[in-house]
Amino acid sequence: MTAIKGSSFVGDLMAEVRAKNPGEVEFHQAVQEVVESLDLVFERRPEYRSARIIERMVEPERVVMFRVPWQDDRGQYHINRGYRIQMNSAIGPYKGGLRFHPSVNLSILKFLAFEQVLKNSLTTLPMGGGKGGSDFDPKGKSDHEVMRFCQSFMTELARHIGPDTDVPAGDIGVGGREIGFLFGQYKRLRNEFTGVLTGKGLNWGGSLIRNEATGFGAVYFAAEMLATRKETLEGKACLVSGSGNVAQHTTEKLLQLGARPTTLSDSDGYIYDEAGMTTEKLKFVMELKNVRRGRIKEYADRFKGVVYAPVDATADFNPLWNHKAQCAFPCATQNEINARDARNLLQNGVYLVSEGANMPTVLEGVRQFIDAKILYGPAKAANAGGVATSGLEMAQNSMRISWTREEVDERLHRIMKAIHQACWETADEFGVRGNYVHGANIAGFLKVADSMMDQGLV
Ligand code: NAP
Repeated sequence: MTAIKGSSFVGDLMAEVRAKNPGEVEFHQAVQEVVESLDLVFERRPEYRSARIIERMVEPERVVMFRVPWQDDRGQYHINRGYRIQMNSAIGPYKGGLRFHPSVNLSILKFLAFEQVLKNSLTTLPMGGGKGGSDFDPKGKSDHEVMRFCQSFMTELARHIGPDTDVPAGDIGVGGREIGFLFGQYKRLRNEFTGVLTGKGLNWGGSLIRNEATGFGAVYFAAEMLATRKETLEGKACLVSGSGNVAQHTTEKLLQLGARPTTLSDSDGYIYDEAGMTTEKLKFVMELKNVRRGRIKEYADRFKGVVYAPVDATADFNPLWNHKAQCAFPCATQNEINARDARNLLQNGVYLVSEGANMPTVLEGVRQFIDAKILYGPAKAANAGGVATSGLEMAQNSMRISWTREEVDERLHRIMKAIHQACWETADEFGVRGNYVHGANIAGFLKVADSMMDQGLV
């Protein structure tokens, strides 16, 4: 990465992106990482530059922004903002999650949608890229309040989506409960039962393993990276952040493969369990987070020998990333590993990072991982298992059949191996062996770019 940082193409394009999208820092960051990789492609394939493919790809095909009015249990009125970014439909209907979190804004959703385009391309399935959500915070809201919000949100969103147009899924703050409320409202409005959302309940069109898929996939990807050095996850100490969907199922698969996950977190703090988590302890976390909707601190109250540290807003590093370990799985949110955290990870012996969360590492951190030549699996490859299994859910919906748990898991595993291989081989082909960032960006880009070239000026 460092070698091509100064290219005038990258500089010029980024100047244009910044000028056109002022203040959208997360979007700038996501684009910068990709165009640094594409510099390698454009040297060999100048036709992409003259066709201005990347300039087109950084411009969403459509952005929908709307008012979401809803009423709380006391009868008070609230107004949130809803969004859907329909980024690119060159290889299939728009596909990507919905995020409900107070930090949601245009910049965050555009970065997520942009990454989603390349990620979906890597999965080998025919899915375009999109993302959406709202600045609504489900935390502390009753089930009835969440339902009223979801119904209001879908009342507008329903006009813009459909099983062959745009198929949203979950993300931060949008799990099975929210998908249920959203699906129910879509069905009322349209009077049709279709696979318009993924992550559905098993009784009404959902796929086995979809819930587990992102976390399982991030661990499968890690295992593939280790296999290039003839190693396995057995016995390895693993730092995991977050305690939501992705963190829980990353931990589950790590335990199945004999690793020792030692940390989890939420936005209030983190726990360090040196002895390692167990299936029993993970069951406690799932009940705590998915049913009681409590805080991770309770883990330390419940189990002996566990340290809890609340978030220190004045610190310039996250102590979760400052423990001895071999592997790290960031599974909470964007930019949760800053440059100092990246240094701490390397100094503590971590030589594998597999990103469950989207863009969890700042650019400077990414550069440190690449320079240190560790096994670094960037989000768009490592966490693609979630959307890949959404693609499998769409396929089952279209055929009106359900595959078994083993069948879906086996397909997911195969897809993660194929993504790993595509990244590895593409990096090799472009002379940057072992660099999964370039491998993922280039492999993801080529399929979308070639499809856009085939389709004329789109
Ligand atoms: P989730 O179930 O809502 O869990 C998110 C976890 O991260 C929670 O523990 C949350 O803590 C923590 N978190 C969120 N924002 C935070 C912040 N600003 N600071 C500190 N902690 C924060 O969401 P998820 O589905 O696991 O998603 C986690 C990450 O994986 C996201 O980056 C998402 O885009 C990515 N991802 C998800 C999927 C999927 O299938 N779900 C697929 C691909 C990628 P609190 O509860 O305290 O907020």
